[in-house]
Amino acid sequence: MDFRFSLEDERFRTELLLFLKSDTPQPMPFPGNMTDEQEWKLTTVIRRKLAEKGWLTMNWPKSYGGQDASSIRSLIFNEEMSYHLIPGRDVFGSRMLGPTLMIYGSEEQKEEFLPPISEGRVQWCQGYSEPESGSDLASLRTQAEDMGDHYLVNGGKVWTSMAHKADWMMLLARTNPTAPKHRGISFFLLDMRTHGIEIKPIINMAGRHEFNQIFFDNVRIPKDKLVGEEGQGWYVAVTLLDFERSGIDYAAQAKRLLDDLTGYVIKAQEAGNHRLSKWWINDLLAKLYIDTEVAKLISYRTAWLQSQHIVPTKEASMSKVFGSETFQKVAAAGLKILGLYAPLTSDDDHSALSGYVQECWRYSFMNTIAAGTSEIQRNIIANRGLKLPRN
Ligand SMILES: Cc1cc2nc3c(=O)[nH]c(=O)nc-3n(C[C@H](O)[C@H](O)[C@H](O)COP(=O)(O)OP(=O)(O)OC[C@H]3O[C@@H](n4cnc5c(N)ncnc54)[C@H](O)[C@@H]3O)c2cc1C
Repeated sequence: MDFRFSLEDERFRTELLLFLKSDTPQPMPFPGNMTDEQEWKLTTVIRRKLAEKGWLTMNWPKSYGGQDASSIRSLIFNEEMSYHLIPGRDVFGSRMLGPTLMIYGSEEQKEEFLPPISEGRVQWCQGYSEPESGSDLASLRTQAEDMGDHYLVNGGKVWTSMAHKADWMMLLARTNPTAPKHRGISFFLLDMRTHGIEIKPIINMAGRHEFNQIFFDNVRIPKDKLVGEEGQGWYVAVTLLDFERSGIDYAAQAKRLLDDLTGYVIKAQEAGNHRLSKWWINDLLAKLYIDTEVAKLISYRTAWLQSQHIVPTKEASMSKVFGSETFQKVAAAGLKILGLYAPLTSDDDHSALSGYVQECWRYSFMNTIAAGTSEIQRNIIANRGLKLPRN
């Protein structure tokens, strides 16, 4: 592959950066410096503007509300959005569900569900994990019983990000309890306003309300909301996971944090700060610079494979595990470099970088768990990449 961007792609990056400068708050507050509600409000405002530009789903076909843009162009969009900490995207809809529906959905489902995503009118959430089924997702127990003209769902989900704001959920449920575990699962589209759904918030380690626990009590799903065939939901689900893991977001977040940290250290060193003028700090930052470059290039390669119509599987896992762990390493290095100033939050006069480093550190653990833990990504790489037998 050629790692250089075309002239048109570079022009797009410039247009996007100008847009971000003129149409989003400057400087964009760090997420920890906004309340959940302020962040959601900003998300909806920016989402509308991005939809007007057609950028939310730019790599989708025009017939579904996209711009037929290449995966590389879309990568540039996501890279800059993540680097500049801009809220607004619904990756559940645009990156995960949309492309999966294009493969497995009926024409009616595509017509009903794709346009609202590209127009930024809808928020999706992902109902996969359950209290006893995370890494071993195929063991899930939520049941969807065929009642003739509808399915009746009972059970529950956990860690469901954005469920409290979501209009729709992509739901995995067991339709055949006696079939082998991977074969008895079906994939549904569930209207979150349906009677019988209870949502309880779970506050994360960073003190934010992002995920939830969900309870289903006799929830009815119309038959036409089944995606693909009954009992074939596992294949739909894993296709969606490959789309989920293939973003550049972790790599871009790592780069942003490293750039902020490096800028802070340079300023301090130039001002003669002895504590921050140490060889080991420069050495550590240089090592992380190499890692962030590698993380970025792995993501570029993943996007390039997509542009060649190759579905990245092991590459998506490599990109996810290396990007999220690099972000974690940069955040941990930040704590080490800032020392006793690191844990201070933005409301403290002595805080460094408005408390952003400690906030990133707390978030960095979630990234190595969400969308499949690092151990699971390595299992995939061992199996699909190195052809090692499963054990
Ligand atoms: C920030 C965040 C957002 C999330 N959002 C969503 C969401 O929107 N929707 C959703 O459905 N889920 C969501 N999740 C849940 C996430 O998918 C699960 O947490 C994840 O799959 C791990 O499952 P678990 O928590 O049950 O851990 P477990 O599966 O119980 O794993 C516990 C530990 O055992 C290890 N382990 C398990 N099996 C193996 C194995 N075979 N080989 C090696 N090690 C193994 C794991 O790596 C982990 O370290 C989210 C999680 C986080 C952190």
